[in-house]
Parts: sequence; structure tokens; C-alpha cells
Amino acid sequence: MDFRPSQEHVMFREAVTRFAQEELSKYVKPMEETDTFPLEVFRSLGQMGFLGAHFPEEHGGAGADFPSFCIFIEEVGRVSAAIAVNVLLHTLMGAAPIFLVGSDAQKRERFVPAIRGEKIVAAGLTEPNVGSSAADIETTAKRVDGGWRITGSKMFTSNGPYADLITLVASTDRTKRHKGISLFLVDSRTPGVTLGPNIPRLGIMGAETGSLTFEDVLVPESALLGEEGKGFYYLMEALNATRVALAAGCVGLAQAAFDRALEYAKSRSQFGQPIGKFQGVSFKLADMATEIELARLFVYKVAWMVDQKEKVAKEAAMAKLFASEMATRVAHRALQVHGGYGFSKEFPLERYYRDARIFEIFQGTSEINRVIIAGQLGL
Ligand SMILES: Cc1cc2nc3c(=O)[nH]c(=O)nc-3n(C[C@H](O)[C@H](O)[C@H](O)COP(=O)(O)OP(=O)(O)OC[C@H]3O[C@@H](n4cnc5c(N)ncnc54)[C@H](O)[C@@H]3O)c2cc1C
Repeated sequence: MDFRPSQEHVMFREAVTRFAQEELSKYVKPMEETDTFPLEVFRSLGQMGFLGAHFPEEHGGAGADFPSFCIFIEEVGRVSAAIAVNVLLHTLMGAAPIFLVGSDAQKRERFVPAIRGEKIVAAGLTEPNVGSSAADIETTAKRVDGGWRITGSKMFTSNGPYADLITLVASTDRTKRHKGISLFLVDSRTPGVTLGPNIPRLGIMGAETGSLTFEDVLVPESALLGEEGKGFYYLMEALNATRVALAAGCVGLAQAAFDRALEYAKSRSQFGQPIGKFQGVSFKLADMATEIELARLFVYKVAWMVDQKEKVAKEAAMAKLFASEMATRVAHRALQVHGGYGFSKEFPLERYYRDARIFEIFQGTSEINRVIIAGQLGL
């Protein structure tokens, strides 16, 4: 058993860290202030090969492995959870299903431009009336001459307000529930598609998310992704990898909050000594360090399992569940260590605290991940 990262992983992490700290950090303030996503980030991350880190080079990727993609998300998450979230959802929920089951033409025309950051892909699953209960979606695709007619609406679609392409989850037979779900690639400029505005949120400012509306949208036969009625299975595969990468983002966010808290505990003095000398503070830091380390270890184990094509439904749910709740706890404690300054906008602690919260909600809430884990335990 060897838990040391490989030389490639160490070098990859150094490259991402440098890029995130030097280039991406400058976007944090404007994103907080304007709640808009700097679209040039997609292009630069694509050019650096990070967006498609774990996809084969012949399909435009960097030919690395899935743990590398998670390293990328962890390091970006340390700087900006908002950027980490929208780029990972673009790659893993929007583009990855195209790589997984797309035709050669779909891969060439849709997947490659996406992981180069030239086209932005949103993934539309959640609807106004349907979130956790994904098999009950109401958006329908009906067969018509030469293609499909799509009707329905989506809610909280990350990258939705500026998407070029939508990986859309629609029902082609509602009587079959999850066995009637199919995936479609819908160009956002198709007549009848409306991209709703950015939805104001608690955190991850700048990670734009909006509604999508489809009014009698006609798409050609070639818009179907993979086989009709298999969409739910494709989606579950995409969701598993997404949960692991989101967990990596949580580790990054928590690490950033912890680093700040440790530094502050050493430099801030009260009662004539650094506050870190008080057990009430030092035990918080000890707990934070322990939880971050445990989450990181497990995230990379599951990322490795994804790479080995092992079944990871349970482990991916565990990674997301533990890492997201860990990030919330760490952000909460790190803010507490900063006292009033943690609550102020002068320090980034209040941002970490707000940003951490979303990870317990999207791509499977904590409750749904517990349902998955319990189900896998035979309960
Ligand atoms: C910022 C943001 C970005 C998002 N990005 C995307 C995206 O890109 N694409 C996309 O498709 N969706 C996206 N979502 C949607 C997100 O995945 C859903 O919000 C999430 O899955 C929960 O669905 P819901 O909000 O409808 O809550 P509901 O499903 O209505 O759940 C409400 C509450 O009930 C609980 N609950 C539901 N069922 C059970 C159960 N069986 N057992 C126990 N508790 C249960 C839930 O855990 C939750 O606490 C995003 C959401 C946000 C806020």
C-alpha cells in the first residue's frame, strides 16, 4: 500500500496551484461584487488542459487521470468555490455524458469544443417541481417527423444564463419513470429555448445559475445522446464522478478556511497570549485538520476507484456527504476563530461560510446521499 501521490500528481498540483493563486484569485472580488461569471476563465482553463484533464488526448483531453481532475478542482476550490463549481459541472455533468455515450460526430462537434472551453455546456436535470426525485421529471421529448419536440422547464441550471449547449434530461415515456428518461443535446439558440437570468443566491457568487424554458423546441434526431430510455443510467454515472469532484472542491474550500484560521490563531493575541494557545481554539484547529485530512484521503481513494471503473455509487455518495458537511463545519469553526473579523467582509471567512452551504444541497442533498448509502447497505 502506497499513499504517496505520484510525481505526475505532485507536478500537476503545483501547476494548478500556481495558476489558481496567480490567475484565478483576481476574479474573486469582482465575482463577489457583480455575481457574474468571467467567461474567459473557461477558455483559459481549456487552453491549460485542466477542463479536460482526465479525458484522452485524441478527444482533446490532457490524458491524465480522474484524481488529477480532482486535484484541479481542489486547488481551484481553495481559491474560488464558485469557479470550481461551474467548471466542474460544465465538464462532468454537461460534457462528460457526450464522451461517455456520444456518437463520433457528437464527440467531435460538441465534446471537444466544450473541454477546450470554447463552448459552455449546462446540464439541465432539476425542474421547478422535481429535484431529488429525478425519475419524476416533467420535461418531455416527443418523437416527431425527423426528430423530437421538447417541452418543459428546468430550474437552478448552473452555467444556464450563458450556456451554448444544454445536456438536457427529458422523459421520452413518462409511464416508464426512470426507464423512460433520455438525454438530449440542445443548442441554446434553438427557437423556443429561453435562458432565464441568474438567480440571486446565498453564496458561490459569480457561479451563475438560472432557469431554462423549452416551448415546443424542435431538435433533430441527432440531438439524442446515447440510447432512448437509457438517460437515467448515463446520468447516474455522471453524477457519481461529479459527487467525487464536488467533494474535492469541499476539501479545497475547507483547507483555505483552515489555513486562514491557523495563521490567525498564531498571530492574534488576547489575554496576553496567542489565541491558539487556548485549548478552546487549538482543539477546534486540531479537529479541522483531522477532518480535512480524512476527507482528502477518502476523496482520492474514490477518485482512483472511478478511474478503475469500479462501482462507486455508495462511495461517491459517502465522499460528497462527508466532505460537504465537513466543509460546513470547518468554515463555521474557522469563522469563529476569527471572532468579529470573521463576520466582517475584511476577511474571506464569511465567503467560505456562505459558499460551503451549497455543497450539502446540489447534485444530491445530504439526505439523498444518506438514502443512497443506506440503500447500498441493503436497507
Ligand atoms: C446553486 C445551485 C446550482 C445547481 N446546479 C444545478 C445544475 O447545474 N443542474 C441541475 O440539474 N440542478 C442543479 N441544481 C439543483 C440541485 O441539484 C437541487 O436543488 C437538489 O438536487 C435538490 O432538489 P430541490 O431543490 O428540488 O429540493 P427537494 O428535492 O424538493 O428537497 C427538499 C428537501 O427535502 C429533502 N428530501 C427530498 N427527498 C427526500 C428523501 N427521500 N428522504 C429524505 N429527505 C428528502 C431534501 O434533502 C431537501 O432537504 C443546483 C442548485 C443550486 C442551488
